[in-house]
Amino acid sequence: MSSTSVAERPASPRRTPIALYQPQPEVDLLRTRRLGRLLRWRWGRLAFQLPLLGLAALLVYDGLTGPQLASQNLATVITWVHYRGLVVLALLLVGNLFCMGCPFTLPRTLARRLSGRGRRWPKALRNKWLAIALLVLSLWAYEWLDLWASPVLTAWFIVAYFVAAFVLEALFAESPFCKYVCPLGTFNFVSSTVAPYQIVARDHDVCRTCAGKECVNGSAQALGCGTELFVPAMRSNLDCTLCLDCVRACPYDNVALARRPRLHEVYQDSYPRRWDVAFLFLVFAFAGVGNAFGMVPPVYALAAWLSSVLGTGNEALLLAIILGAIMVAMPVGLGLAAAWLSRRLVAGRGRGEPLRAVMARYAPAVLPLAFAVWFAHYTFHFLTGALTAVPVLQSFLLDHGIAWLGREPNWSLAALLPTDWITPLNIGVVVVGLMASLSALSRRGSRPAQMPWMVLFVLVALAAVVIFTLPMEMRGLQG
Ligand code: SF4
Ligand code: SF4
Repeated sequence: MSSTSVAERPASPRRTPIALYQPQPEVDLLRTRRLGRLLRWRWGRLAFQLPLLGLAALLVYDGLTGPQLASQNLATVITWVHYRGLVVLALLLVGNLFCMGCPFTLPRTLARRLSGRGRRWPKALRNKWLAIALLVLSLWAYEWLDLWASPVLTAWFIVAYFVAAFVLEALFAESPFCKYVCPLGTFNFVSSTVAPYQIVARDHDVCRTCAGKECVNGSAQALGCGTELFVPAMRSNLDCTLCLDCVRACPYDNVALARRPRLHEVYQDSYPRRWDVAFLFLVFAFAGVGNAFGMVPPVYALAAWLSSVLGTGNEALLLAIILGAIMVAMPVGLGLAAAWLSRRLVAGRGRGEPLRAVMARYAPAVLPLAFAVWFAHYTFHFLTGALTAVPVLQSFLLDHGIAWLGREPNWSLAALLPTDWITPLNIGVVVVGLMASLSALSRRGSRPAQMPWMVLFVLVALAAVVIFTLPMEMRGLQG
């Protein structure tokens, strides 16, 4: 496994093959009048990052010093109710806007100065295995530590992110934190595969004659792509942080943030044929189900049963077994079984195809369903608790001597929609995701070979629907 880049840094700019495939930009966000100018501006990203840095500082401050009740602290309410809901909405409507405004990478410039050219990220880690492990580990830690119920732990979680990003940026030349480590980035990268905008080259002829390939190599004035994507070869949003460094670095103004058909890259064969990428997609799908399962009553019954069988009440261990089974063993076992069956069901020469190639062909079709499960879950929390921000902020300001909207916080504010609308909405979202995944599946391989995957996707969707019909904990709003 050599690298995770969908479009890698060219070893020699003059010999770089340029993919002819690109979506034709219908609408380019960078060409819109005000927004486009802001995005292309040298300090454009900073304009998004600074407000988020201020917000992060506020959350850390309130998390460490404010009331240690999750429902009355900005750290828990904003992080676990608003941040997650707004991230998936942004991913659905535009793309990876959180990574674009990510405050954790702000110390990057300082870290880069410290590192000079730095060293290269170890070759053995230039893949998605570590990202998969850290994604699962972070979801396990979230459950085990009840992060959603603890303002102080949520604050330290934010601080840990800044420290990790800074240290890795200082030690290594590229941006390994975003590409290989950050679980939030991994979530955003995979989700943005269904987003409606993508970085593309406006004119491939210009790229063919471009000697410097500054979009990836950088120039004296601008950084090249931190995650080492090469714009004219990009076929996917995977690994793109939407930092727009490529836009600022390209001397020919040849980079667009173009609108594309929503399922464009899932319909195409857009991903490297690698085990790690295929398993990343499957783990992401099952992790969505597992994360939602952690919030409904059957998880407690299962933990109690497991505890009696194993004779231990060790919560960390019980959660590791339950989540490990759902988020790791199931996607690996069922994914391999589906791939093996697919191969068996193909007549003729296809039977000799490597299992890796079969996995790589069918696993990406799960992406719309996977995103739908996460979307339904996170919007559930957002729709049931978005207005809580008002009394929590009121209370924070009152504690600091500022009266806003009266002297008594209105703690009855919470849901954006009547709660009995939300379950049907969630189920509708999962059904739409399933339909999109089946549609993507129908464009891959032969009909018999699609069948095992079809069954797998329907089972994932069914599990999600059952979970969403159960009473779910109001995380971030309890305690
Ligand atoms: S720097 Fe611009 S013109 Fe050159 S390869 Fe990159 S996108 Fe194309
Ligand atoms: S916006 Fe451009 S520079 Fe930034 S990650 Fe995406 S391709 Fe790379």
